[in-house]
Amino acid sequence: MTCHYCNEEAVAYSYGKGYCREHFNMYFRGKVRSVIDKFQIKGKIAVALSGGKDSLALFHALHFLKMDLIPFYINLGIPSYSPASEKACEKICHDLGYTLQKIDLADYGISLEEHEKPCSVCGTVKRYLMNRFAHENGCKYVATGHNLSDIVTFALHNLANANIMNFRGNRPFLPGREEYNMVAKIKPLFYLTDKECMNYTSINNLEYVKEKCPFSREAPTLKIKKWVHAMEEEMPGMMLNMAKSFWRLEEKMDDEIKLNRCSICGYPSYGRICKFCRIAGRSKGK
Ligand SMILES: [Zn+2]
Ligand SMILES: [Zn+2]
Repeated sequence: MTCHYCNEEAVAYSYGKGYCREHFNMYFRGKVRSVIDKFQIKGKIAVALSGGKDSLALFHALHFLKMDLIPFYINLGIPSYSPASEKACEKICHDLGYTLQKIDLADYGISLEEHEKPCSVCGTVKRYLMNRFAHENGCKYVATGHNLSDIVTFALHNLANANIMNFRGNRPFLPGREEYNMVAKIKPLFYLTDKECMNYTSINNLEYVKEKCPFSREAPTLKIKKWVHAMEEEMPGMMLNMAKSFWRLEEKMDDEIKLNRCSICGYPSYGRICKFCRIAGRSKGK
């Protein structure tokens, strides 16, 4: 097949159309741009790099859209996986001319291996450290590499577990709240599937970490994602429609959120002391 827009050989396919390298890059960055434009994103963006294909694709696309970026990496201290991830983040920063900023979980006295539910602790500490890093570095936004497949999978997983309180993060943009030291969160890959992100990394020769996190091997969400992708094959566009539905549902739920500022660290918390401070053992005797 040739590219839909020129006579070059197609190297990627999306929704039945073939794309050459140049036109696929335009298509991909155009989808990222549409999120940036819709929410009028201006100014410094902290980009959370994990070393995985999505965060590298995100960073690369934002760089070529000439956004003002501070890439950072959270070292979770997971043997073999973390060093490989860090290397991938270092490589792309070097190639694009940035200095990678690093945060070490060990500096906060937290070790994921010591926890019974490492994935849940990991999610909490990453969210916390991302926000804190962005806030301390004068960024109005933190951008993460969640793509369309992740968003739909996450929402279905929560629905399947009757977990309505966690039914958040389904939108491409969550406004910040200065009074709680909370920066805005953006998901510029909102309109792009797993497969499209994979195509973008391979077309642009981005070296992402192939290793999977050892804690996530049996994650139930992996099964849901497989199922979501199988449905998408049958009904192209289904993921996008679902994501848009979840987005609207979440908007309707908004006023229920009651936030405080953590009495120890000053960052947003549902209770008096935030989950991060509890995990880091700072709440003892408070
Ligand atoms: Zn073309
Ligand atoms: Zn705290």
